[in-house]
Amino acid sequence: MHYDIESFVDIAKTFLRHDQIITEKEGLSHFSYDATEIRSIPHVVVLPESTEEVSKIMRCAYDLEIPVTPQGGRTGLSGGAIPVVGGIVLSLVKMNRILEIDTKNLQIVVEPGVVAADLQGTLKGYNLFFPPDPSSTVESTIGGNVAENAGYTRAVKYGVTRDYILGLEAVLPDGTIINVGGHTVKNVTGYDLVALITGSEGTLAVITKIICKVLPMPRIRRTCIVYMDDLIGAGDFVVSIFEKGITPCAIELMDNYCINCVADYLPSGEALRRDAEVLVLVEIDGHHEVAIFDEAKDIIDLANKNRHTIESRLAKDEMEAEKFWRIRRDTLPALKAKGKDHLEADVVVPRYKLTFLIQAIKEIERSHIVKIATFGHAGDGNLHVTIQYRKGNFKETEDAYTVLEEVYKKTISMGGKLTGEHGVGITVKNYLNLQMSKEEIELMKRIKMAFDPKGLLNPKKVFPDHL
Ligand SMILES: Cc1cc2nc3c(=O)[nH]c(=O)nc-3n(C[C@H](O)[C@H](O)[C@H](O)COP(=O)(O)OP(=O)(O)OC[C@H]3O[C@@H](n4cnc5c(N)ncnc54)[C@H](O)[C@@H]3O)c2cc1C
Repeated sequence: MHYDIESFVDIAKTFLRHDQIITEKEGLSHFSYDATEIRSIPHVVVLPESTEEVSKIMRCAYDLEIPVTPQGGRTGLSGGAIPVVGGIVLSLVKMNRILEIDTKNLQIVVEPGVVAADLQGTLKGYNLFFPPDPSSTVESTIGGNVAENAGYTRAVKYGVTRDYILGLEAVLPDGTIINVGGHTVKNVTGYDLVALITGSEGTLAVITKIICKVLPMPRIRRTCIVYMDDLIGAGDFVVSIFEKGITPCAIELMDNYCINCVADYLPSGEALRRDAEVLVLVEIDGHHEVAIFDEAKDIIDLANKNRHTIESRLAKDEMEAEKFWRIRRDTLPALKAKGKDHLEADVVVPRYKLTFLIQAIKEIERSHIVKIATFGHAGDGNLHVTIQYRKGNFKETEDAYTVLEEVYKKTISMGGKLTGEHGVGITVKNYLNLQMSKEEIELMKRIKMAFDPKGLLNPKKVFPDHL
């Protein structure tokens, strides 16, 4: 496809500085990929510093009919930020100011390019926190988190990103600036456009300002680690915590293969129970020491009453809690260190079905040649499935894709969904019809058309190629 990039660059130069426009090959290559490592080189990258500049860029691209791909920290795991048809990459990383911290209303206003960890660091000084804090916190941006409706380990108690977004300023594909929602906690005037744009993966509008709720930082947290010898037993343990009336802020789970990969990867690996079938990490937080102490004790009691528990431990201090968390955080790097190619699924089922899904996936693995690792957020039924296959091995590659489809089908048959937090992007789009009816996909297409009649904003994402 030929785009009139020369005219775009000439016009962009009238309102952007030289260093806000990248056209040389080396610079473009940096913006050609995200965490999926799939690559596609854009024709030009622009780095606006204000909403007005975003609006002018969008208007110009609209007139010249050049596609635009918004980008944040490029940590996406479904390829949403990759400029698959070339054109313009609109990187929001220079719009990175925290504009307001309103301690009276517990609200903040931020630009989209603020890095998640920087925001958390600033809020800490006010004894506040923004609960949505994905594991990619040191690189991902708030704009990207909103566009993906990101989840995180503490979603089981605090909800997902969408639950904290009160208002958005956004730029439509033709350059129109809109302000939806606002500073009120309640607002049922008209359709909920804030909720619609949140999670729309950069396909409806470019987010340029975000009004979010924040919460007081919990004063106390306790972390427990439980090793168990049976998957379904682990599922029962997770459910028993909720039945006891406790809502932990995180319940993470990893299977035996993940435990062993982390044990190989970590210098302190020998401290992990390699024989355990499952590792469950439970964390509770709150403001009252006695209440948290009692809940922690209850959780350890529940673990010890479960006949499948091999070992349970309550972290004695923050340092030990951090050691427990490191096991979970290093799971993905540990799997990658095995040096294989991999496909990842981010499926989600109702909480109690999670361990049954893992069991079904182990069953799938038995009739295939690839290796499957499962870990994830047991508290909200969100499972990350990593299918490993040898690089360049045609048979294993083919097998991995067959397994991926079987995992998706099994998830749907259990009342689950294709993606819990990583989004559809390009990696899940061709499986969309396993979950959604033709009519539902058509309705989404009509919404896309209403925002983006020329189909220029983040094209070839979310919708299946064949529809
Ligand atoms: C190590 C690692 C850990 C991760 N952990 C988690 C996790 O715990 N939970 C989770 O949910 N995800 C996780 N992810 C995935 C990823 O970090 C999230 O999807 C994150 O929200 C992406 O943010 P980003 O700034 O990197 O966005 P990008 O990857 O740059 O973009 C993601 C999508 O958002 C769009 N976009 C970006 N900015 C804007 C904007 N301003 N306006 C409109 N659209 C925009 C892009 O077009 C793209 O479709 C992880 C990824 C990695 C690599």
